[in-house]
Order: sequence, then C-alpha cells, then structure tokens
Amino acid sequence: MADVVIVGAGVVGLGTAMLLAKDGHLVTVLERDPAPPPDGFDDAWESWERRGVNQFRLPHAFLGRYRAVVDAELPQVSEAVEAAGGLRANPLLAIPEELRGPERPEDHDLEMLTGRRPVVEMAMASVAETTPGVTVRRGVAVEGLLTGPEARKGTPHIVGVRTGTGGDLHADLVVDMSGRRSPLSRWLADAGLPPVHEEIEDSGFTYYGRHYRSADGSEPFALGPALQPLGTISSLTLAADNKTWSVVITTSAKDKELHGLREVDRFEKLVRSLPLVAHWLDGEPIEDRVVSITKIEDRWRSLLVDGQPVVTGLVAVGDAWACSNPSFGRGASIGMLHGLVLRDTLRETENEDPFALVSTFHTATTDAVAPWFFWTRFEDRHRLAEIDSLIAGRHYEPADRRWELEQALANAVMKDPDLLRAFFRAAFVLDPLDEALAAPGVSERVMELGADWRDEPVPAPPREELVAIANG
Ligand SMILES: Cc1cc2nc3c(=O)[nH]c(=O)nc-3n(C[C@H](O)[C@H](O)[C@H](O)COP(=O)(O)OP(=O)(O)OC[C@H]3O[C@@H](n4cnc5c(N)ncnc54)[C@H](O)[C@@H]3O)c2cc1C
Repeated sequence: MADVVIVGAGVVGLGTAMLLAKDGHLVTVLERDPAPPPDGFDDAWESWERRGVNQFRLPHAFLGRYRAVVDAELPQVSEAVEAAGGLRANPLLAIPEELRGPERPEDHDLEMLTGRRPVVEMAMASVAETTPGVTVRRGVAVEGLLTGPEARKGTPHIVGVRTGTGGDLHADLVVDMSGRRSPLSRWLADAGLPPVHEEIEDSGFTYYGRHYRSADGSEPFALGPALQPLGTISSLTLAADNKTWSVVITTSAKDKELHGLREVDRFEKLVRSLPLVAHWLDGEPIEDRVVSITKIEDRWRSLLVDGQPVVTGLVAVGDAWACSNPSFGRGASIGMLHGLVLRDTLRETENEDPFALVSTFHTATTDAVAPWFFWTRFEDRHRLAEIDSLIAGRHYEPADRRWELEQALANAVMKDPDLLRAFFRAAFVLDPLDEALAAPGVSERVMELGADWRDEPVPAPPREELVAIANG
C-alpha cells in the first residue's frame, strides 16, 4: 500500500483518488482552486469558482465508459450524480426500434450517466470528501517536484511535491492529474530532470456553447446524432441534469468569418437555421452569453523516452497525460479508463520496484488507453482538413481508406443495427472501432451501405448564409 499524492481534484483526478483508496492506498489530492464543492446543483452551476478548469462551464456529456466505471467501481458516485438530478439515458434505445432492431442485453453498456460539468463534478467531489483514505486539500498549488535517492541506478526518482502554501509533501507515488494545462514539463526542467516525450498541436477548433433549461418540463427530442458535421461547422446537442441541455457549434479556429457567433443573437439565429437542431433552443437560456473556447490543444506525452522511464515515482493520468478535441466527449471516459489502468498496475507491481511500476504503467497505457487518444487525434486532423477544404470550395478527398470507411460507417448506421452498435460502442469508448471493422465482411458491408455519403444532403444552409448570419 502506497502513499499517493494526486495533483488536481478534477473530475477524473477525484475518481482515480477513490479507485486507489478503495485498494488501501492513502491518497492526498492537492487542488489549487480553494472553493469546496457546493451543496446543491444550483450552487454548483451558478457559483462554484473553478478557475483551474477552463472548460468548467462548457457543455459536457459523460459517456458509456464513464458510466460503466462509476457504476461498477464507485457506485456512491452514480447515486450522488442521480441525487443531484443527473440524467441516466440510453441514446441507442432512444432510436426507434425499426431502425435499431430489438433490444440486446449488451445495449445496457451504452447507458450514459450525465449532467452539466459542475453538477457531475460536485457529485464526484462530495463522495471523495467522505471516502476513507482520500484527503482532499483545496487551495494548495503544486509548484515543483522533490527528488530523492534513485530507486534504480541512473534513473532520477521523485519522492514528493513542493507546494506554494503547504510546504513539502512526500509520497511513494506522485500522480500528475493537473489537466490539459499540466506544467509537468516545466516541473521536470526546474528540477534539472530530463524532458518527457511530448507532442502538442492546436486541435484547431473553436467552441461556441450555451446551456438551456426546459420551460415546461418537456425536453428536446434528438432528430439526429448528438454530434453532426454540417459542412464547415458541426453542431453538438447534449442533454444534461435537471432538464437542462446545451447546444454547441464548433468551427475551425481559423474561420474568422464565423467569429461573430460569440454574439447571442447570431449564435441562436445560426442554430435556428439548422433543421435538425433548431428546436434545441426551445427552452430558457441559463447563462446570459455564449461561452466560447479556442486554442484547444491535442497533447500527448510519454514518460518513457527511448524505452526508459525519464523518472520513477511519477506518472501522468487523464488530461495531464493526453487530451484532445472535446467535441467527441471522450475525455472523462478515457481518463477514468486510465485511472483504472493505474489502479490495476499498482496491484500488479505491488511487490516490485518503482521502475517496474512506471514501465508497466506505460505499457498498459499504450495498450489500453492510448489507442483512444490516437483515434480521436486522427479524426480531429481529418475533420479540420475537411473544413479547410470546404471553406476553399473543394471536396475533401484525402485518399485515406480508413477515414473514408469511417464516413461511410456514419452514413450506414441507420441501415444496419449491427453497424449502429459498433459505431456507438466505439464512440462511447467501450470497444475500439478497429476490432469491429476487422471482423469478416464488416468493412465491405459498410461500403455497400454507406459509400455514397458525399451525396447525402447536409442539413444546414450554404456557407454564404452561415457567414451572413455570423456577421449579423
Ligand atoms: C470545451 C471542452 C469540452 C469538453 N467536453 C467533454 C465532454 O463532453 N465529455 C468528456 O468526457 N470530456 C470532455 N472534455 C474533457 C474533460 O473536461 C477532461 O477530459 C477532464 O476534465 C479531465 O479530467 P482531469 O481530472 O484529468 O483534469 P481536470 O478536470 O482538468 O482537472 C485538473 C485539476 O488540476 C488542478 N490543478 C492544475 N494545476 C495544479 C497545480 N499546480 N496544483 C494543484 N492543482 C492543480 C486544476 O485546478 C483542476 O482542478 C471537454 C474538454 C473541453 C476543453
């Protein structure tokens, strides 16, 4: 059993803290933001100050994998999310049976347990506060790493963290869960330690989002998938807790002609112009502006360089390890999966040295978690290139069979219940799409049913009209 310090009490950091504490580890979570979790969902939404999480007030959906982990491993969190008004819903079963076919036992996996980000995080935090073995210290910022005697000759060893207010804290393992702006590289450099391998690129998207609440108890019915690529924009519609929901438009960050979507009237006018999405505005807005975020990075780091750990005593989990374009809503699911992998690695290496822990964790991360990140980054790069092409008035023809297959699959799902399930299981971070597409006959079937995806009408006004709307 280890003394573990987790840096960051985010929605995955707290979940990981509880997973480790349930195994008997003593976990201290250090969180820079001072405000404790509020008592109710209204306060969480209206007044919880969380400057450390840029996306705190932006639309989130917590997908099937996230729900599966909390239901199985942290059932009190599921209870707390539901008690706070969280939504338990199965988007596959919401599709008419003529299209999705009869219900199957495994369809339950696709259930989501979701809500607005502050509400879900409040539920997670309230359970963490009372979990034996977890101590959450808020208002304590980590400023650097402490090194000590090497556990394996030649590899620097981390023995704790230096904090701004609370002095030094020693631990057997430091887990960086400080999110997408994790300063890990700077901490290593400041301590005179070698750099990790890091790949960073601007994912290239801008998000414009707004939350609404039902005015009369009714909730919008999904007339299409939650995420719809609509030419040079995408729409995202997410049902949340307590009869709230959100509407998001994403664009290329370079698309200056659409920057006007920051204005409420232009944003809503554009949403109203989308026939499958317009009715999601039929509620009362619960914020007075359009919240937008840009410079969203795709970042991945590896603590192994040339096959060797850069340091021992330290790992990075969740967004601090890898983060990507959030329109797919996979971040918290990938993060919780990663937290589970850490817990299992600690079990596996319990009698081994810190070098074995870092190496084994890296291998397990590479096998079970990294493919989800690389798939998302692959999709991001193509989608952005597609938008750039369409803005320039050209079809996007990248000569990439895999990408072509995925577009065809999206077009085929409503014509084949098996393909529909394969699509959902991948989108919900349950089963990799590669496995489904590699099964005999599947890719042939996808192309047979979906290859004409370029001929499908795009349910959105032409580009000139979108630009006119965004410019008032
Ligand atoms: C616009 C947007 C929309 C998103 N939508 C979705 C979605 O729909 N579904 C989904 O699953 N994911 C979504 N994500 C991703 C999701 O928000 C992240 O994957 C998730 O928050 C990661 O959790 P985490 O605990 O790793 O990090 P975070 O939640 O980012 O938490 C990091 C914590 O570390 C703290 N911290 C930072 N530095 C320090 C320090 N030096 N000392 C102490 N504490 C520190 C911060 O204050 C913060 O509390 C979205 C992301 C963005 C940007």
